[in-house]
Amino acid sequence: RAHLDRIRAVDGAVNAFLHVNEAATDRAAAIDARRAAGESLPELAGVPLAVKDVLVTTDMPSTSGSRILEGYMSPYDATVVAKARAAGLVPIGKTNMDEFAMGSSTEHSAYGPTRNPWDLERIPGGSGGGSAAAVAAFEAPLALGSDTGGSIRQPAHVTGTVGVKPTYGGVSRYGAIALASSLDQIGPVSRTVLDAGLLHDVIAGHDPHDATSLRHEWPSFAEAAREGSTGEVLKGLKVGLVKELHGFSQGVDESFRSAVATLEAAGAEVVEVSAPHFEYATAAYYLILPAEASSNLARFDSVRFGMRADVAGTVEDVMAATREAGLGPEVKRRIILGTYALSAGYYDAYYGRAQKVRTLIQRDFERAFADVDVIATPSAPTTAFKLGEKLDDPLAMYANDLATIPANLAGVPGISIPSGLAADDGLPVGIQFLAPAQEDARLYRVGAALE
Ligand code: GLN
Repeated sequence: RAHLDRIRAVDGAVNAFLHVNEAATDRAAAIDARRAAGESLPELAGVPLAVKDVLVTTDMPSTSGSRILEGYMSPYDATVVAKARAAGLVPIGKTNMDEFAMGSSTEHSAYGPTRNPWDLERIPGGSGGGSAAAVAAFEAPLALGSDTGGSIRQPAHVTGTVGVKPTYGGVSRYGAIALASSLDQIGPVSRTVLDAGLLHDVIAGHDPHDATSLRHEWPSFAEAAREGSTGEVLKGLKVGLVKELHGFSQGVDESFRSAVATLEAAGAEVVEVSAPHFEYATAAYYLILPAEASSNLARFDSVRFGMRADVAGTVEDVMAATREAGLGPEVKRRIILGTYALSAGYYDAYYGRAQKVRTLIQRDFERAFADVDVIATPSAPTTAFKLGEKLDDPLAMYANDLATIPANLAGVPGISIPSGLAADDGLPVGIQFLAPAQEDARLYRVGAALE
């Protein structure tokens, strides 16, 4: 009830939620009653959970931030939502996002932008700005996000929250409206590393409905966070700083340097690592992502899902009119880019080359992780920028992802935790840690130690 009251009080200004679940209090009351009757319930039973609108839910509409899915009701729950419900978490609402998770500011939502609770004139990051803003504004203690190129970690960076992109395949994507299937991962957003670990424990694990989900016995991430909180793990930890990563603002860079100094003071050994292909990551990503997205979004054909334009004509006429009216400019831009990159005669030149760059980035990681336990970077180039500042400049918007994209291309896990406020503008900054695939627990140990 306190969280619903908070949503009523602040969400008119923040716009983190596209839909609020008024039945949440009944669900919570039912859990309270079971607890009062002496039933032993999971640790998070009764805790409200904000759910990014990219995840389908049976009791609330799922739009993925798009007009084309306005009011769409799914016949099933995404696996992560089903797991959260089974653990007693109470979905409190669906959070705003850039349309189909394309963007870094949540300004590409068809339902108006979300605003950063730290400064309402500024963006909350994207695509999962709604989830991060909801957690930062105390509208929800926990949220689920999706991270294809940084959409959990970059919003965490600009809102002073914690965001985790798990190892690719570590968390089921079933019921996550697909953006780029080889890059998408679902993960937690929270205010502390331990909270993220508690939620990650609930959603991790193999899912027969997702052919890419790993059969792996995950250790407890909450346990890892608890272990890390003493700071002992930092003694002798080898931390790599990527020589070739540039382009961070002064405020971000200073905050990062002071976090690195804290690591060193606690006994970590900080060394430089070389990842010479990271500088091509953004370019490769913006070919691979549109290619996969153009294919995934073909399902919004006016027949199977969502809206249908009220026109008479051939199937193609109806489809074209529906997609014209139902999809926003950024989505159209990427569909055009993707279909072009995949078309005969261009496939090898663009998509094929981008896939080769992807392999080189994976090798960069392998070489670096032969020398260090984790890689540390600032999570994004700048603090929260003003609404509208980059909206008309797609390349400036894409540049926000330069530090987060390499992890998606390689499938490795990443965490962003607050590293303090930038000295120049007083806005939150995040530090990102990256670990080898399946070593997500290491991120919780290190994150909790630095926190
Ligand atoms: N900002 C990136 C993009 O626009 C990341 C998106 C994401 O992670 N969903 O593609």
